[in-house]
Amino acid sequence: MPQEALNGLAPEIILRFNQVETIMPYCVFCHIRYEKGESGMSSITEIYGELVFNDRIMQERLPKVTYKQLAQTIKEGKTLDIEIANAVAHAMKEWAIEKGATHYTHWFQPLTGITSEKHDSFINPQDDGSTLLAFSGKELIQGEPDASSFPSGGLRATFEARGYTAWDPTSFAFIKDSVLCIPTAFISYGGEALDKKTPLLRSMAAINEQAKRVLKLFGKTPVQVSTTVGAEQEYFLIKEKDYADRLDLILTGRTLFGAAPCKGQELEEHYFGAIRPTVSRFMQELDRELWKLDIPAKTKHNEVAPSQHELAPVFLTTNAAIDSNLLTMEKMRLLASHHGLVCLLHEKPFEGINGSGKHNNWSISADGQNLLDPGKTPYDNLQFLVFLTAVIKAVDEYQGLLRMSVASAGNDHRLGANEAPPAIISIFLGDELAAVVEAIISSHAHTSAGDVFMNLGVEVLPTFPKDSTDRNRTSPFAFTGNKFEFRMAGSEVNLSDANMVLNTIIAKTLSDFADTIEGSKDFESASRDWLKKTLSDHQRIIFNGDNYSADWPIEAEKRGLLNLKSTPDALSQFITQESFELFDRFAVLSKSEVESRYEVKLEHYSKKVNIEGLVTARMAHARFIPAIIEYSTLVAEGIASKKDISDKLDTSAEEALLEKLTDGINAISAGAAVLEKAIEAAAATEDSLENAQAYQTKVIPAMETVRNAVDAVEILVGHDYWPVPSYNHILFYT
Ligand code: ADP
Ligand code: MG
Repeated sequence: MPQEALNGLAPEIILRFNQVETIMPYCVFCHIRYEKGESGMSSITEIYGELVFNDRIMQERLPKVTYKQLAQTIKEGKTLDIEIANAVAHAMKEWAIEKGATHYTHWFQPLTGITSEKHDSFINPQDDGSTLLAFSGKELIQGEPDASSFPSGGLRATFEARGYTAWDPTSFAFIKDSVLCIPTAFISYGGEALDKKTPLLRSMAAINEQAKRVLKLFGKTPVQVSTTVGAEQEYFLIKEKDYADRLDLILTGRTLFGAAPCKGQELEEHYFGAIRPTVSRFMQELDRELWKLDIPAKTKHNEVAPSQHELAPVFLTTNAAIDSNLLTMEKMRLLASHHGLVCLLHEKPFEGINGSGKHNNWSISADGQNLLDPGKTPYDNLQFLVFLTAVIKAVDEYQGLLRMSVASAGNDHRLGANEAPPAIISIFLGDELAAVVEAIISSHAHTSAGDVFMNLGVEVLPTFPKDSTDRNRTSPFAFTGNKFEFRMAGSEVNLSDANMVLNTIIAKTLSDFADTIEGSKDFESASRDWLKKTLSDHQRIIFNGDNYSADWPIEAEKRGLLNLKSTPDALSQFITQESFELFDRFAVLSKSEVESRYEVKLEHYSKKVNIEGLVTARMAHARFIPAIIEYSTLVAEGIASKKDISDKLDTSAEEALLEKLTDGINAISAGAAVLEKAIEAAAATEDSLENAQAYQTKVIPAMETVRNAVDAVEILVGHDYWPVPSYNHILFYT
């Protein structure tokens, strides 16, 4: 193999390439061939989207009429007819086979939030012993996986086990591991959504309809109003070897033990710091694989915590952005192994160290025009103010649902810790918009500042206009120039729920505006009245201060804002009468769909904590107690042998250590016994809410007691005797 063909690839991969005899570099794990180019790599423009059956390929490969009809389906949400589906399926199959695909799969997102796939080959054996490669329109648009093995939260008791997957033509098909993947929705025999995507698509339809009503009042009739999302993904990378030595990381994704490292993130040197070579090679490979899949990976950098990183793509229409994010997480996990690394996507892998979030940048646009763009004079931009106010009203009225949408066992550890907003929802608008809102409420005139230029004090540096707002990194819901950034979501979450909620609650407040204004004689003054009343009613949700400060929860309570600290508390917001009515009114979720999702989320929470509890107890017994016994026996033997030699040798320090170690063993053992009882008691509760509450109020504190006892001993035991890699070791590697 020519050496230059290997430039830029990780040494680990090169080794594997050399083991498999192939002329071109070839990754044996993900079956990717790196071809062409002087440096052995194809150019970005050549590879970009090469594994996606995207608009360009469709134009090239579909008959003109078919393409036009399909494009209409995609743009306007029209139903697809089977003739077109047949033609699309044929072209898709031919294209996929040329790209080396042998199978196809309906790729969907069951209520677990992760993606699922079952592979079917294209082969269709003939009587003469040969085979045709076939893929029909019916196979493209509909599949029938057995729904009984996926969580349904009780929907299965009422409805049949049958489930159907249905093609989502608004997300492009793509090839992954020689499989043609068709993004689909997953529904039950009775038409109930069994997945994350279906309600998301319904919510997009709801906001499309209501936003069009509003825009019509402004004399505009766009073809499509869609919401857009850019998901900034945070993650940790650690060494495979350290991961393999820790049962907690393997089974729960986070460390359940570990004394604080001697150095944390206090030197603030990791954020935007130079990226270490191993990580850089991982990022390069990741970027290329994502680009091939049409995923516009744009920004990458080191994050605040040691070994923490971030990837941000260019934003896309919401459902495509979420599909892309799920694929990104999958590729991160897979490709890390090529570099001897493991990617941790858990919200809080290390206690006392920043956790990982997934900032959900959200906006709404009409035929590509961003409706949250304030322009230079926001006070006079009535249409912008209506959309802005609709968001403010929605976030205030449905705080509980937004909090619910990102609730998970993992995220509970992150929210309210030092690196993330507390579990209180509030909105940051920035100085300029806050002044505009004040002016509207108090009926004062307001003049926008216009462009203010930065004075850098150095002539050679270019001058540029100052942003109208500074950033506020502590707000859970911040206006950032022309979009909102919902920062409460955790790194591992499927963003469908958060966006389903955002779209639906804003559809609701847009419809409130339209209901009030439609038919009014003086549109402008009626709109200004609505703005004034609505902003006055919901001003309490606006908070431009420091969300991390100790005063904020007190102030928030005075304002009557919710502070839902735990997942069981947050989930209760999903099953209120208000929530049922909201989702039903906009045909996003029926009451039984809401109830089933609530059940699944509660169960998932309990199962996660149960596993963590079991792992905590197991590691205490199987790892830590034996190791501490071994070390303390060594200390005891040392003391005894010194005493044998002479009574005069002072062994007081060793004896004090021995006492602490012995106390430690007892504390861990007693803690583990309490924990085991708590798990048993929690598991015995029948009701799913009581079950989750038992895990939250009894099991989690019992786990913490065991952890604290273990961590207190970790710093006393000789390095070579501690049975798992420490935080110092895991977080700081070269
Ligand atoms: P940061 O939060 O670090 O300031 P950026 O300003 O670079 O990040 O942008 C963050 C994300 O916001 C990117 O993924 C970007 O594509 C996305 N974004 C920008 N405009 C929009 C929009 N109109 N709708 C949704 N997301 C957007
Ligand atoms: Mg951000």
